[in-house]
Formats: sequence, structure tokens, C-alpha cells
Amino acid sequence: MDFAFDARTEELRTKLLAFMDGYVHPAEVTDHEQRALLASPWDTPQVVEDLKAEARRRGLWNLFLPDAEYGAGLTNLQYAPLAEITGRSPHLAPTALNCAAPDTGNMEVLAQFGSDEQKKRWLEPLLAGEIRSAFAMTEPEVASSDATNIETRIEREGDEYVITGRKWYISGAMNPDCKIFIVMGKTDPANADVRRQQSMVLVPRDTPGVEIRRAMQVYGYEDHSHGGHAEVVFHGARVPASNLVGEESGGFAIAQARLGPGRIHHCMRLIGMAERAIELMCRRAVSRTAFGKPIAQQGVVQEWIADARVAVEQLRLLVLKTAWLMDTVGNRGAHTEIQAIKIATPRTVVGIIDDAVQLHGAGGVSQDFPLAELWAAARTLRLADGPDEVHQRSLARRELKKYL
Ligand SMILES: Cc1cc2nc3c(=O)[nH]c(=O)nc-3n(C[C@H](O)[C@H](O)[C@H](O)COP(=O)(O)OP(=O)(O)OC[C@H]3O[C@@H](n4cnc5c(N)ncnc54)[C@H](O)[C@@H]3O)c2cc1C
Repeated sequence: MDFAFDARTEELRTKLLAFMDGYVHPAEVTDHEQRALLASPWDTPQVVEDLKAEARRRGLWNLFLPDAEYGAGLTNLQYAPLAEITGRSPHLAPTALNCAAPDTGNMEVLAQFGSDEQKKRWLEPLLAGEIRSAFAMTEPEVASSDATNIETRIEREGDEYVITGRKWYISGAMNPDCKIFIVMGKTDPANADVRRQQSMVLVPRDTPGVEIRRAMQVYGYEDHSHGGHAEVVFHGARVPASNLVGEESGGFAIAQARLGPGRIHHCMRLIGMAERAIELMCRRAVSRTAFGKPIAQQGVVQEWIADARVAVEQLRLLVLKTAWLMDTVGNRGAHTEIQAIKIATPRTVVGIIDDAVQLHGAGGVSQDFPLAELWAAARTLRLADGPDEVHQRSLARRELKKYL
């Protein structure tokens, strides 16, 4: 077993670390300052555009896309340590490298299932970082962790599809640069096979009947840097039939294909978030004194730091094994491991960030450290892309099957 990164990964790691230190981390404060002055809080600040241009110039662009025709052509194992590094600044670095969710998953869907026309119109500007996109599946009225519950209708009328329904927590949709939605809904609600009822269609933002109703908050944050999370209502919005993605009734399968890579990318970045929290925790612990000795000398603090290091090393190994399996036996073959990391990583990292918050005292919940934002971002990942319990149920069933 060889634990070393290959030459290409090492070269990109070196470049990326230099970019993070020289550009991304210094831009974290500028980003907050510029956002406060924007006409609309959902606009993209200039500093983000500058980071994108610099990342592209340095060849740090579309690293997530294994398809060499469209992206960097890296394997999951090569991309994993790079995504981890971007996780150290999760609100800026993934966007700077054009590697941010939900665009990444949407680009993968278009690259894999899009028609030539769809690729030209939407994939090309997304790959160039000229526009953003959203993925609209979750609905407020139904338990959407079970995708068969989705109620939005996509009805064929002549040469068009008519979309009617209400979605929420649609990431990125508040940003005016978000020009296209991939919408999941039912074209065939009577189909006896509940996994063949859904389809996906492309709905441009400016389609009449598309209402961006309101921004959804995350623990009271607007989550501006993410492009927000919107409630979106489709009032009989009409799109040409050629906007169907893949085949009719194939939406469920596309959603499954989309979520595998998305889940591992989240876990990779979460490990970077944990590393940032450990670094902050250690710096604070050695620089503050309470009751006559540095906080770092308190036994309980040493326990937090040691446990965090052990947990991160365990998570990283499991994530790398999962990446390797996805590369060698495919996403289906890596199903159990993808679920295992999606269960283990967010909740463990939430705990590590929480300890770091505690160690910082009031500073931990303040705007002067990134910990509060990191905590909120990590906590949502116990829900997004499938709640923990759904993955636990499915993993346990597969495990039990061996004994039945
Ligand atoms: C910040 C954020 C961003 C998001 N971005 C997007 C996006 O861009 N696009 C999009 O479509 N959606 C998005 N989502 C929505 C997310 O994918 C859903 O919240 C998630 O799939 C759960 O669906 P639900 O909220 O309807 O919860 P429900 O389905 O109502 O589930 C609620 C709870 O019930 C429990 N539960 C459900 N099923 C089981 C089970 N089988 N066994 C045991 N317990 C169970 C779990 O504890 C679960 O958390 C986002 C969510 C957040 C918080």
C-alpha cells in the first residue's frame, strides 16, 4: 500500500498551497468588506472575480472534473487532497477554482447526460466560470430526503414542458449570476416504478413563471458567499422539450449519479475545515493564559486537540480509500464507503469545530474568527445531500443483507 501522492498531485498541491497563502486567505477579510458595500448582498464581489482570474492563470481550474475533455482530468484520489486544501477557506476557495457546489454536480450532469446543444449553451459558460447554476430538488411540503416524494410536476404539452411546484434551500439561486436551474420533478407520477416517475429539465432563470421568492437562512446567516439558498416557485413555467436532461423518467438515476461525487467532495472539504479548526485551536491555546498557565497546558484542551488529530487522520484515510474505490470500481462499487464517509465526516468535523469554538471563548462565536461560519457550514452537511439517518438506514440494510 502506497500512501504517497503522485507527482501531478504534489505539483498541484504546491501550487494550490501557494495560491491559498498568497491570495485566498488574505482575501477573506476583503471579501467581507466588499460584500458590505455591494448594491445587492447577493452580487459577486470583485475580489472573488480577481481570485477566479488568478486561479485560472495558475492552472488551478475545474480540478473536480475527472472528464479530461472538459475538466482537469484528475482522478478522485488526485483531487481529494486538493479539495481538502480548499476546505480551509470553504466560502472562497472552491468558488475561486470553479470547484464549488452545486455548480460542480451540475457540470458533471451536463457533461455526462447533456445534449450537444445543452453543453454549448450551459456547460461551456459554467466551465468558463461566467455563470453559476442551481439544482432544485428539495420541497418544503414533503420529506425530500425520500426523492420519490417530490411533488413538482413537469408536464409535456406539445413541444414544451410545463413546470409547477415549490422548492426551497436551492443553493446559489439568490446570486444573479445563477442563470440556470436543473429542476427535478415528476413527468409520470402514475408509473408503478416509483424510481421512474421523475425527470430533470433545464429551466433558465429568466423563464416567465419562475419566482425567486425569498432567501432561506442558515442558523440566522444569509450565506451570501454561497450565493444564498432560495425558495423558488415555478408557476407553470414553460421550457422547450429539448431542455429535458437525459431521458424522460431518468431523473432519479441522474440524481443518484450526481450525488456520489458531490458527497465525497463535501467530505474532502470538511477535512480541510477540521484542519483549519485544529490550527486555530492550537494557535489560541498557546497564546492565551488562564489561571496561571497557558490554556494549552490544560488536560482537557490537550484531549480535544489529540482527539481531533486522531479523528481527522481516520477520516482522511477513509475518504482516500473511497476516492480510490470510485476510481477503480466505480461509484456504485464504492457505495458503502461513500455512505460511510457521509455519515462519519460531517458529524465528527462539527464536533471538532465546536471544541475550537469553546476554546476561543466568546471569540469563537464572533465574526473575528471563521469558526462560527465553519460550524454552521459543517452542520448543514449532516442534512444536505442526504441526512445522516438516511445513509445509516441504507448502509445498515446492506450490511444486514449478508446475514439474511
Ligand atoms: C444549507 C443547505 C443547502 C441545501 N442545498 C440544496 C440544494 O441546492 N438543492 C436541493 O434540492 N436541496 C438542498 N438542500 C436540501 C437538503 O438536500 C434536504 O434538506 C435533505 O435532503 C433532507 O430533506 P428534508 O429537509 O425534506 O428533510 P426530511 O426528508 O423531512 O427529513 C427530516 C429528518 O427526518 C429523518 N429521516 C428522514 N428519513 C429517515 C430515515 N429513512 N430513517 C431515519 N430518519 C430519517 C432525518 O433525521 C431527517 O433529517 C439544502 C439543505 C441545506 C440545509
